[in-house]
Amino acid sequence: MPERLGSPRETPLFRRLVLVGIGLIGSSIALAARRQNLAERIVAVDKDEGVRARVAELGLADEIHADPAQAVAGADLVILCVPVGACGAVAKAIAPALAPGAIVSDVGSVKGAVMASVEPHLPEGVHFVPAHPVAGTENSGPDAGFPTLFLNRWSILTPAYGTDSDAVERVRAFWQGMGANVEFMSAPHHDLVLAITSHVPHLIAYNIVGTAADLERVTEKEVIKFSAGGFRDFTRIAASDPTMWRDVFLNNKEAVLEMLSRFNEDLAALARAIRWDDGEALHKLFTRTRAIRRGIISEGQDAPLVDFGRPRE
Ligand code: NAP
Repeated sequence: MPERLGSPRETPLFRRLVLVGIGLIGSSIALAARRQNLAERIVAVDKDEGVRARVAELGLADEIHADPAQAVAGADLVILCVPVGACGAVAKAIAPALAPGAIVSDVGSVKGAVMASVEPHLPEGVHFVPAHPVAGTENSGPDAGFPTLFLNRWSILTPAYGTDSDAVERVRAFWQGMGANVEFMSAPHHDLVLAITSHVPHLIAYNIVGTAADLERVTEKEVIKFSAGGFRDFTRIAASDPTMWRDVFLNNKEAVLEMLSRFNEDLAALARAIRWDDGEALHKLFTRTRAIRRGIISEGQDAPLVDFGRPRE
């Protein structure tokens, strides 16, 4: 498993890369694409004046625009790095300015709804290659980005059947250039897999932190003081961007609700095992789940020494 990004390309893959939205994911792409020489010119778009000033200070892009349509003129790759609920409106705004042959992609955590909201706006001759890098942190904004965010992580591409194969290959090469591994899936399958590996875990974290905050017989001070017992690790996930996650749940309703009903059934079975002193059932499950954690580490998707905030000697 490589621990650092490989050598930069001798010639860039794209002439003009436009990142609409320059938060955690957009800024990480800007930094990685710059370091790996994946684009001749990097263009950032953000509607907020303060964010644009910060992007300039950080030197994330060669050009910074407020108007996405103005920015995408002449672009050969445009990546929508905005919350999934905003992708359709952005696609509509940029559509008239897209050059024939341009590739439009995105990084949304939901694929079916994004494809349904973006595709109808794109003109003939523009290729849409949706992507989802399965990499992130709980931080947002342009200061949160770092160039190795995608290193050894998966990026899932979900192009519709019949999408221009050259465009798909170029997007694949772009993600590989940033150190990611690429996998192809249909959008519905992606949404189902991510519902259980990402969306439901976030919902559980939001829920448990919310429940703890609302308790009456245990004070908030006690919850914070004794958080190292497990609660603290949920709070990291529950600190994720509220707009992004609101949009994820509203746009992947079916898959999330399906996985949630499975989760509720299994939770009820666990409650029953506790009530009836069924230690064997509990031990059996906890042994299986421990093996899953070990599998994640051996696949290089996490480090065995997570510090959980403890100082190292
Ligand atoms: P972020 O740090 O909060 O950045 C979001 C960006 O989108 C900002 O530039 C923001 O502009 C812009 N934006 C927000 N609402 C908008 C709207 N209505 N119209 C136009 N622009 C808008 O979020 P992020 O973590 O980079 O997430 C971006 C996308 O990546 C989301 O679709 C998310 O599902 C996906 N993703 C996230 C993660 C993760 O762990 N965070 C991982 C994989 C994929 P302002 O700064 O002006 O508000």
